Amino acid sequence: MTQTTYDIVIVGGGMVGASLAYALKNSSHRIALVEAFNFKTTQQPSYDDRGIALSYGSQRIFDTMGLWQQLSPHSTAIEHIHISDRGHFGATRLSAQQEKVPALGQVILARAMGQVLNQAMAESDTLDIICPKKVVAISQESNQATLTLDDKQQISSKLIVAADGANSTIRRLLDLSVTEQHYQQTAITANISTERPHEHRAYERFTEHGPIALLPMPDNRCSLIWTVKTGDEGPINALDDAAFLARLQTEFGYRLGQFTQVGKRSHFPLKLTQTEQTIQDRIVFIGNAAHNLHPIAGQGFNLGLRDVIALADVLIDAKDCGDPRHLHDYQQWQQQDQDNVIKATDTLVRLFSNNNVVLGHGRSAGLIALDLLPPAKHWLASKSMGLGKKQPRLARGMTL
Ligand SMILES: Cc1cc2nc3c(=O)[nH]c(=O)nc-3n(C[C@H](O)[C@H](O)[C@H](O)COP(=O)(O)OP(=O)(O)OC[C@H]3O[C@@H](n4cnc5c(N)ncnc54)[C@H](O)[C@@H]3O)c2cc1C
Repeated sequence: MTQTTYDIVIVGGGMVGASLAYALKNSSHRIALVEAFNFKTTQQPSYDDRGIALSYGSQRIFDTMGLWQQLSPHSTAIEHIHISDRGHFGATRLSAQQEKVPALGQVILARAMGQVLNQAMAESDTLDIICPKKVVAISQESNQATLTLDDKQQISSKLIVAADGANSTIRRLLDLSVTEQHYQQTAITANISTERPHEHRAYERFTEHGPIALLPMPDNRCSLIWTVKTGDEGPINALDDAAFLARLQTEFGYRLGQFTQVGKRSHFPLKLTQTEQTIQDRIVFIGNAAHNLHPIAGQGFNLGLRDVIALADVLIDAKDCGDPRHLHDYQQWQQQDQDNVIKATDTLVRLFSNNNVVLGHGRSAGLIALDLLPPAKHWLASKSMGLGKKQPRLARGMTL
């Protein structure tokens, strides 16, 4: 029987909520995590067959949290990144060697990350996992908030952390405003085998329909994120494997030789969703519940993980976890990071999804300039690695 009053209740056991539960494992707080899906089934939406690019900064965070050893057998290092624009000259190449780091990032199968995070949570004896249970109602009082679950159970907490994803139930129940930007683009994802080895190189290729990313995976496979105009995903996914690969080959080219095999395909409509006020009385929104990004730069979870460590840093020694001063401290820390990443991602989508000729020339000039200018390249690399701002303790190698 679980308790009914807590210091912190995390709603959502996806990558972000589970990472927060683990980051707080050494605290003396009473913590619960509520998740709608049974972790043991394959329905858990966060943990599918996508390859997730973790920045070098995120890898260091997991290392400090003590989870990298479990994650690393499932990961593939990104040693080079190749960025190009279909139909235009110019490409930019980033390399770990030039940036003097062992890797620019790591690609990890979302499903494997789920297994590691779920196992880590299951081993914690200070965490109550309430699952499978859905939050269906919420009320806020001055010193706590109360959740009602779908079995009518009520649980109260000094702080509710909404980590319940892009279509956040908590946000809907509180009738909060969101900024939404529909890109009219859909991402098709699948794992692909290639004729030539990827040699730990990630590719980002911009086309007039949207970007194509290929991330290196084990056994010389690549994780594909192919952005198409919304409406085109139906006919493309209806193609048989050979026709699908031929179509992809036309868009991407032959840098990896012939595409030889494709695994299960999925698709995700792409939009930017931003919760306007991420802190409320006794409630804070993190991860996709706060900001759902276009995957063009692979920043969504990396940003969510920085939300996690900033929040864990302010909560770890808090007496009253829902005290507005702590929530403001968190917001001060993360707001600028969130605004910067959202703006940069949105600008990239607009710049590289437009087949305007003038913009096209500007883009290729930009890519050539970036390739020739080491300081600009270094700046881009440090951004993709998730470095370059004042860091919470878990990002500086200090445990909580
Ligand atoms: C195609 C694609 C590629 C991507 N690639 C990358 C990448 O390379 N790198 C990167 O950093 N990011 C990437 N992302 C983004 C990344 O997937 C997300 O940022 C991340 O999954 C968000 O995790 P989350 O835990 O915030 O939300 P979710 O994964 O959506 O988890 C929310 C959880 O809350 C639960 N929940 C919802 N409602 C309730 C309720 N009422 N009660 C209880 N539980 C509830 C859900 O069951 C779910 O488990 C990509 C995204 C896409 C679409």
